[in-house]
Amino acid sequence: MADVNAVPTPGFDSFGLHADILRAIAEQGYTQPTPIQAQAIPVVLSGRDVMGAAQTGTGKTASFSLPIIQRLLPEANTSASPARHPVRALILTPTRELADQVADNVRAYAMHTPLRNTVVFGGVDMNPQKDALRRGVEILIATPGRLLDHVEQKTVNLSQVRMLVLDEADRMLDMGFLPDLQRILNLLPKQRQTLLFSATFSNDIKKLASSYLSNPVTIEVARRNATADKVEQVVYEVDEDDKRAAVVQILNERDLKQVIVFVNSKVGASRLARQLEREGIVTAAIHGDKSQNERMQALEAFKQGGIRALVATDVAARGLDITDLPGVINYDLPYNPEDYVHRIGRTGRAGASGEAISLCAPDERKQLVEIEKLIKRELKRGELVMERRSRSRDDRNGDRYDRSERTDRSERSDRSERHGRHDGLRASRGGNSAPRRVRPEDEFFYKPYEPSPSAIESQRDSRSLQESVAPTAFGALPEKAPKRQVAALLAGFPRKAGT
Ligand code: AMP
Repeated sequence: MADVNAVPTPGFDSFGLHADILRAIAEQGYTQPTPIQAQAIPVVLSGRDVMGAAQTGTGKTASFSLPIIQRLLPEANTSASPARHPVRALILTPTRELADQVADNVRAYAMHTPLRNTVVFGGVDMNPQKDALRRGVEILIATPGRLLDHVEQKTVNLSQVRMLVLDEADRMLDMGFLPDLQRILNLLPKQRQTLLFSATFSNDIKKLASSYLSNPVTIEVARRNATADKVEQVVYEVDEDDKRAAVVQILNERDLKQVIVFVNSKVGASRLARQLEREGIVTAAIHGDKSQNERMQALEAFKQGGIRALVATDVAARGLDITDLPGVINYDLPYNPEDYVHRIGRTGRAGASGEAISLCAPDERKQLVEIEKLIKRELKRGELVMERRSRSRDDRNGDRYDRSERTDRSERSDRSERHGRHDGLRASRGGNSAPRRVRPEDEFFYKPYEPSPSAIESQRDSRSLQESVAPTAFGALPEKAPKRQVAALLAGFPRKAGT
């Protein structure tokens, strides 16, 4: 019997969207708006600023893209003149992968309209991006660093931007993009609509919103910092030495067809990928040291089902949209508890269920406590009876070399940046009698993130502006500086090469 109290969700046709947009939505196979779409689309259409929080995988991208397309339609034209296609909507994302994914969505939703769009991100040749920008686009999706490269080279003009989206804004702050963001914001017309989306509403995000949004409507679909509802979460206490075997066992016992395995370091990701390959599991690694093309190829192969385990650092934790991903494994618990929410959001997307399995070594218990504090619940403890506890001494020695690798200078500074401490336990274990493997040094990894001089200038300008407008906004900026180094290390986005 039908639930008489059920409130029917309005369909896409109730928003007054143009037939060309409705057609594209139907072609995507969407029948009903998701909760964030039901709430955000009318507000964005009305022209109000939005501060939106939604669980990952909730359809957030369409919640801002569809009304943006609708609002730009009156000026849509088929003229060949670039002057008739100025950038009117700018969508900023923290990572290349997310930019690419948002661009795919925008392309699909706008395909029956004359509106043009393109995406610019670092790590790839600038020239095709310049060509697309010169031809003119109404909707530009960009990562901040590469966008500023284009601004510097005068290949993009932002003076006609009317709509700005800050997607995954919390991540942009975590990655040290604040100076770049401020510089970009200063290039935009003051009269504009700004939409800020963030999986979590930290105090820094609220400060960002109070500085750059005007009387925003807050849309919060999920409980703050909640983890995806449909994801079954379990944590296993496992010795560091047993983690690799645990991953193999979990994959086999649960017959997981595909997983993303999250590790905290680039070196750790490469090493685990090699080890899983040796165990006969088709694996690829994506992290900041991989070229953009390598990352996109691995991701594509994973999406096509050709790869069973994708070993990733947190650069991959945001924005990846892989339909029906049955599980994620946290090989290392993240240092930043909010990353846990993002990592596990890779599974259980768009209504599907998923498993989030975490391995917790004894020296990671503090991280577990922080995660549970953030998500406001205790994770279910599972028991994993290891099939292959004892491995040969040679194998263990191999691991020991790996551990010393893991504590190379760049990663130690990474850890100590995040925690204000060095990982003495691992370092002393690794430094045992086993000879240390000497790794080639790359000076880049010891350099802090350096915004361009003009970014510093603009940061100063906008800080004094904020101080006069909102005295507390960004009061903590100087203390944030070390995070940039972490961002560069984790994401491997040297500013010079763009993002
Ligand atoms: P997002 O949170 O924007 O990354 O979207 C997550 C996934 O949900 C993507 O695969 C979208 O294509 C899909 N999606 C978005 N909106 C809908 C909808 N209304 N119905 C079904 N799937 C959707």
